[in-house]
Amino acid sequence: MEEITWELFERQVEACRLCPLCQQIRHKVPGQGDRNSPLMLIGEGPGQTEDEEGLAFVGAAGQLLTRMLEAIQLPRERVYICNVVKCRPPHNRVPTPEEAEACRIHLRMQTWLIRPKVIVLLGSTAAKNLLNPEIRITRERGRWTERKGVWMMPTYHPSALLRDESKKPEAWEDMKSLKAKLMELRLYPDIYANGEGS
Ligand code: SF4
Repeated sequence: MEEITWELFERQVEACRLCPLCQQIRHKVPGQGDRNSPLMLIGEGPGQTEDEEGLAFVGAAGQLLTRMLEAIQLPRERVYICNVVKCRPPHNRVPTPEEAEACRIHLRMQTWLIRPKVIVLLGSTAAKNLLNPEIRITRERGRWTERKGVWMMPTYHPSALLRDESKKPEAWEDMKSLKAKLMELRLYPDIYANGEGS
């Protein structure tokens, strides 16, 4: 069997025709960021801007996510960001369970390569696919679960925060909880070295 490498991952995503989502896209959006990051953020799927640029979370929701990370002193380039599906669903609809399942092979390979200590699940599609198919994000956001040594927390997708500002205080609580978890696990010691973050 071929060794699992980033080169193999990129090649497999680019060539992938495992579900119909690849039929109407401009670019595959595998994900990007620090491949040595202890923190991985996983959203739902690429939107229009992401499809045009081939990069994850670069539209309005992505810009909000960048500001949210900066609010806990985390530069965006220090984390790894990707989605459950690597091709844009038409009209930004939610990926079907079959599409998410087809794309799981890529997400698994990605997670294996990064070996994150903490995963933040952005929105219910990511939370349902990676944590619990029955999860209700409004009720269970902000709760930590440990699986095989990896801490996972679901929170709102930033696009939900753009649609409904009233969710922002809860999202901020989740970001503070994320920072506390990163400090507890002594991750990003250069950023959180003094116990408070700079
Ligand atoms: S969404 Fe994923 S499984 Fe479907 S074609 Fe794109 S890369 Fe392949």
